[in-house]
Amino acid sequence: MTQKSNLSAGREYLAIPGPSVIPDAVLQAMHRAAPNIYAGALPDMMPGLVADLRRVARTRHHVAIYIGNGHAAWEAALANVIGAGDRVLVPATGSFGHDWGDMAAGLGAEVETLDFGKASAMDMARIGEALKADRSHAIKAVLAVHVDTSSSVRNDIAALRAVMDEAGHPALLMVDCIASLGCDVFEMDDWGVDVMVTACQKGLMVPPGMAFVFFNDKAGEVRRQMPRVSRYWDWTPRAAPDLFYQYWNGTAPTHHVYGLRAALDMIHAEGIEAVWRRHEVLAHAIWAACSAWGAGGSLAFNVAEPDARSRAVTSLKLESPQATALRDWTENQLGLTLGIGLGMATRGDPAWHGFFRLGHMGHINGHMIMGMLGGVDAGLKALDIPHGPGALEAASTVIATGQLSAGASE
Ligand SMILES: *Cc1c(COP(=O)(O)O)cnc(C)c1O
Repeated sequence: MTQKSNLSAGREYLAIPGPSVIPDAVLQAMHRAAPNIYAGALPDMMPGLVADLRRVARTRHHVAIYIGNGHAAWEAALANVIGAGDRVLVPATGSFGHDWGDMAAGLGAEVETLDFGKASAMDMARIGEALKADRSHAIKAVLAVHVDTSSSVRNDIAALRAVMDEAGHPALLMVDCIASLGCDVFEMDDWGVDVMVTACQKGLMVPPGMAFVFFNDKAGEVRRQMPRVSRYWDWTPRAAPDLFYQYWNGTAPTHHVYGLRAALDMIHAEGIEAVWRRHEVLAHAIWAACSAWGAGGSLAFNVAEPDARSRAVTSLKLESPQATALRDWTENQLGLTLGIGLGMATRGDPAWHGFFRLGHMGHINGHMIMGMLGGVDAGLKALDIPHGPGALEAASTVIATGQLSAGASE
């Protein structure tokens, strides 16, 4: 009998779709004594930080910053423009769309959901019909998730704006870029997005704890027409503060501010277009590997259409319970943690063990992605899960050549 050794000692790799890998530069920037919050480096950092956040979001407009996670960003954005009795339209392509809609319902909004399932992008024709049917323009906002992190569906936000314009509908276009910002291409101003929400722990590479709401003047005007807005969530003072504490409505998340400064320095040193390109190439390498595995077994993409796939996260199917067995194996044997099939099936349901996700957002490079794929490949072998050959070869070819056709033809 051969003795199997455990190979998990060494640096662990958290390949889940958020929180993502934290760069050493971010960790080091956060490792410091408590800074003064009334004067000095911390308050002085803010104007540059705001400018650099706008550059990542590709907007000339406003940003309000909150201590909170992505759910806080959802509530913050809604609290400024949506009140009891207002109507919102939610084109959902996975669980996060439904969850944002549910948050609007919690504020008393009337929520109309168009459910496009969990494996394909929004059907723009159906959204156009729903908008045209709303002759009185009662729908105040469309809540769209750019990349739904559960299904790994990526939606075409520019096309959504075009459908809204074509219908002549004045609703606000509000977009959740929590998974996609700093990974998938996103152009807030060019695509006509009125409100964009994100958080710091995915493409922005900072530990969870900061949420951001970007908004344009049209959304600012809708905010001004609101009968009341909760003092804490009000974006007005946060986006145009006279004093440092107004950015945060209280004490700043001191160390997170230093972490974000370091992360934005990294993003802008590389260049946002280069960051997008890196995610594009690495996503195609992952898809090439998955296509090869799938050609000889049951592994399959959740999203068949490459254009509708995120460049930050990939949801995959295996026969239940193989996905859970694979995740357990890579984590315990290799120190490689893969993502659970969140939102794809109910926990406790046997189908839940048939989904897993690869996170590839933020601080990732070619050798990390080859390592992650190598870990999955070893797991498929060790567990005797049927799969096609040549996955690592296919991935390394994409990385070597930068040719994106390998996965895109799938
Ligand atoms: C992660 C995520 C959220 C939720 O963020 P939390 O920080 O967990 O509250 C919402 N939407 C999308 C698209 C996400 O990826």
